[in-house]
Amino acid sequence: MLNVIIFGAPGSGKGTQSERIVAKYGINHISTGDVLRAEIKNGTELGKTAKGYIDQGQLIPDTLMIDILASVFDSFKDSKGVIFDGFPRTIAQAEALKEMLATRGQAVSVMLDLDVAEDELMARLIKRGLESGRADDNEETIKKRLFVYHSQTSPLIDWYKKEGVYQHITGLGTMDGIFADICKAIEKE
Ligand code: ATP
Ligand code: MG
Repeated sequence: MLNVIIFGAPGSGKGTQSERIVAKYGINHISTGDVLRAEIKNGTELGKTAKGYIDQGQLIPDTLMIDILASVFDSFKDSKGVIFDGFPRTIAQAEALKEMLATRGQAVSVMLDLDVAEDELMARLIKRGLESGRADDNEETIKKRLFVYHSQTSPLIDWYKKEGVYQHITGLGTMDGIFADICKAIEKE
């Protein structure tokens, strides 16, 4: 199986590039942000819990996230692979993912780090907030999310370098250009 992690700060383009990866490689997509937003839309208990964290720019607790991830992963049958978009976001999640894959005879094939400068992230997210109305894409919450990214999520860069699967991707440029770099990194694996 081809198990890809698409990694990067909020607004780095994980969702956009994931769609292209799915189309080209025929693998399944897990976006934890999309899963949570669907739960909120459907008014479930999980959605109510998640909304409290998301509106504050905070992460959902690891234990909850890890359970959700495993159940989505196990819902895929005869999968050629999976793209993990928005997960892991903490070291505890990375360790849990490793363990979850290992018990299924799997491992992460490659971790793609979409690297985008902070001022560009800010501009993209504010624009997205105006267009999509996503409640967490407002200046105050974006600042909190970027802070959470730097404190809790970016340590995963070194963690995956140690795992030997890290690939840096420049996340600035055209969507096609970035996708071409992603394909090269995946095919190197
Ligand atoms: P991008 O714009 O690159 O797709 P994003 O950070 O804007 O990324 P999502 O990945 O959709 O957006 O996540 C939205 C919110 O959902 C996060 O700010 C967080 O509160 C919650 N969330 C998503 N994934 C996780 C996770 N793995 N662990 C904890 N909370 C998560
Ligand atoms: Mg997303």
